[in-house]
Amino acid sequence: MASQARSKARPPLHEFDLIRALQQRHGRGGRSIIQGIGDDAAIVIPPRGQWSLLTTDLLTEGIHFDLKTATLADIGYRATAANLSDIAAMGGRPCYLLAALAVPRRGTSRQVHQLYQGMMAACRPAKVKLIGGDTSASDHGWFVSLTVVGEVPTGRALQRHGARIGDRIYVTGTLGDSLAGLRLLQESSSARQLRPAMLSASHRRFLIQRHLRPIARVREGQWLRIHRYATSAIDLSDGLSGDLRHICEASHVGAEIDPAAIPLSSACRAFANAHRFDPTALALKGGEDYELLFTGSARKHAALERAARKAGMRIACIGTITSARSGIQTIGPNGKRRPLPITSYEHFQ
Ligand code: ADP
Ligand code: MG
Repeated sequence: MASQARSKARPPLHEFDLIRALQQRHGRGGRSIIQGIGDDAAIVIPPRGQWSLLTTDLLTEGIHFDLKTATLADIGYRATAANLSDIAAMGGRPCYLLAALAVPRRGTSRQVHQLYQGMMAACRPAKVKLIGGDTSASDHGWFVSLTVVGEVPTGRALQRHGARIGDRIYVTGTLGDSLAGLRLLQESSSARQLRPAMLSASHRRFLIQRHLRPIARVREGQWLRIHRYATSAIDLSDGLSGDLRHICEASHVGAEIDPAAIPLSSACRAFANAHRFDPTALALKGGEDYELLFTGSARKHAALERAARKAGMRIACIGTITSARSGIQTIGPNGKRRPLPITSYEHFQ
């Protein structure tokens, strides 16, 4: 798109050289790509018997990331993982990536290449190909908008609306690590470290890695879809408390969860311990873990849990779907039920 603002406000780097370099480094085609980077639009062959999945995410400097706590490679990686995670949550296979950038005037082509290094590192294991994007200058920091195109067999996408009363609620992996990692990064950038000696270097590294380099659960999402274990699914990007609410609203049901059943890493426990707060609170409100939250019918729960163990997939049952009337509740150790507070991240508050 050509615009007046754009011809006046060129990035300090050369747009066409940059695009050519990106094409050469990362624009390798695949069998289904007729035209990748280099024309007005990419051309791909639509897959037979599949639905297309389309997802996009915008990351803004100062809102979603801070260059004091992450490198551009980390940001590229995390932005890509967030998009792959959306495809994973639909049970799909991610295929293509498009990247639209606004680069601040102080930005360099080296930084753009770092960003792409991170993006491509996240794409590689999932065999996702970069097929296009857009490049502009910015007067207000970095903007990175990524679009991923994926596919899922016709009629088989995992959606938010399929949860039924009596279904069990599961999560993959461990929760709260990303928020703990972010807190550690923020502490060290503000030179206000709290009791750092209480946390081992390996726990620190683990939590920071979980924040900067989350792994999208693409394999798990496809596994759930192939074996028809999930009645609904979502990825955990806003935090358990908010994302569970999305499933409940879409499915017109309620839920009760047992906070003690939420899977926590030993690093997250150690972090919470050192800071004297409840690790479960981190897990409930921490977003950006990019684990999957899904429901499965109670009838198949033993088979699901057995198959997951066999496949080497870590899942944990954290509760049950109830009627919409009872809302979303937690069950305490004494069996007492309480409404789950809304603690997830909201941009406009
Ligand atoms: P147009 O003016 O038609 O948008 P561009 O010069 O912006 O064309 O883009 C030329 C080609 O380079 C297109 O294939 C586009 O998808 C690709 N492209 C532009 N910017 C990027 C980017 N930041 N990352 C990847 N591909 C890009
Ligand atoms: Mg363009």
